[in-house]
Amino acid sequence: SFTFKTVRGLVIKNTGSWYTVKTEDGQTIDSKIKGNFRLRGIRSTNPVAVGDYVVITPNREGTAFITEIEDRRNYIIRKSPNLSKQSHIIAANIDQAFLVVTVNYPETSTVFVDRFLAGAEAYRIPVTLVFNKHDLLSGDELRYQHAVMNLYETIGYPCVEVQASAAPADAFSVEKLKPLLNGRVTLLSGNSGVGKSTLINALLPHANLRTADISDAHNTGMHTTTFSEMLELPGGGYLIDTPGIKGFGTFDVEREELTSYFREIFKFSKDCRFSNCTHTHEPGCAVRKAVEEHYIAESRYNSYLSMLEDKDENKYREAF
Ligand code: GDP
Ligand code: ZN
Repeated sequence: SFTFKTVRGLVIKNTGSWYTVKTEDGQTIDSKIKGNFRLRGIRSTNPVAVGDYVVITPNREGTAFITEIEDRRNYIIRKSPNLSKQSHIIAANIDQAFLVVTVNYPETSTVFVDRFLAGAEAYRIPVTLVFNKHDLLSGDELRYQHAVMNLYETIGYPCVEVQASAAPADAFSVEKLKPLLNGRVTLLSGNSGVGKSTLINALLPHANLRTADISDAHNTGMHTTTFSEMLELPGGGYLIDTPGIKGFGTFDVEREELTSYFREIFKFSKDCRFSNCTHTHEPGCAVRKAVEEHYIAESRYNSYLSMLEDKDENKYREAF
């Protein structure tokens, strides 16, 4: 009989029914999962994700079966919308995330940013905040942007100002993102309209551009949480584009542990009188004192409170 050698590759696209695997010699092969393949311990509608290193067995048709998934350094997961007991893996082996934000046109809320950052802390994924649309902002808006950047830089999140639609020579050109992206796998996130597609197209002038069709179809269609893709950067490394997915999905956290996802709040929470302090009303709360004394930004504290409320109302799984 006729047999093919197995080969190792990286999953760079997931359409829900097919996975595109890039092999070490640079070929891309459309692959499927064989039989009822199960990944250790994870019940998933879709056990393979972009960023996974897999072993595939090519077949006569020029496609292949995925027969093995290598251990992951990390992965982000979310509950399947329809199947309550099943989870869906969005991406694996992520080095960092870029959260694209705009202080206007449209305004990204600080609550959204802080929820994203909390999720990233839970997954231990470093985040850079990319402030886009510099060209559209007024003097007042730029002053506000700089204050926001200063807040997040102080907490420990690097911030970059760009205009994705800028001329290449501009001081705010996306060129300055390249050294931060080279050789790494970067998850690109942000609300709709902040300029993610524009940014991708500016960074990948010759590659397969993200089309409005794909993101629109998948924003409204049933495969919202299924389609994802890794785009290869000219300088090495990949951008992970997950249309319709704005955050990190679920992560389980106890009420008392929530502050550990807010770096600066966590530092003060250790000085609270009660170890199970929720930092909402308790006497001797070091967090509330730090908010009053402006060591903790009110916006950050409010984001903490809003996540705590979701937790109390058990809305947590929909919170991202
Ligand atoms: P996405 O939904 O995050 O992918 O956002 P898009 O890339 O589709 O951008 C939304 C709109 O903002 C489009 O009309 C872009 O042309 C525009 N846009 C993106 N970046 C910039 C920028 O830096 N400056 C200006 N003026 N417009 C931008
Ligand atoms: Zn407290």
